Amino acid sequence: MAKLYFRYGTVGSAKTLNLLAVAHNYQQQNKKVFLIKPKLDIRFGEDDVRSRAGLNRKADLLVDSDSIINYGILDQVNCVVVDEVQFLSKALIDQFRYIATVMRIPVICYGLRTDFRGELFDGSKRLFEIADTIEEVKTTCNFCDKKAIFNLKIVDGQPCLTGPIVELGAEEKYLPTCAGCYRNKLEGQYF
Ligand SMILES: [Zn+2]
Repeated sequence: MAKLYFRYGTVGSAKTLNLLAVAHNYQQQNKKVFLIKPKLDIRFGEDDVRSRAGLNRKADLLVDSDSIINYGILDQVNCVVVDEVQFLSKALIDQFRYIATVMRIPVICYGLRTDFRGELFDGSKRLFEIADTIEEVKTTCNFCDKKAIFNLKIVDGQPCLTGPIVELGAEEKYLPTCAGCYRNKLEGQYF
């Protein structure tokens, strides 16, 4: 078998940069990398995976949260990488487990641990349950020097605990925030 990896972090923790660097390293060795991402991540255009640091690469496969992967497309692939994995379903994460265990292709997933309310995403929950290797991609709080663990949602400049969970590319923004600053910014909306 090969391993299923989950590398999680908050917004702004260079997960996509890390993913693109992994893909680049495989390609330098003439190995084939297959990049999967959810359809609904439209921040930078349909099939582009682009880091804020400037690197980018086309996705090989766009999936809905509950897509079924045709395993034949992974023939000759040396590594599968997945961006924004938090948006995928338990069923899709289980397919990644199959790809690693049975097809013996390592699958490296990158994504957020929790939404702006501090609750696990479905895809992330399943990865915490069944990944071989779980690694935190760390970043610092937007407001102080502590490690960020929350994604604070800002709408029209105001910290916010309401609205849809999934609204990438909308007017909201999300800031990496430590527990203390998360609580302070939400001023009692949060415990
Ligand atoms: Zn802080």
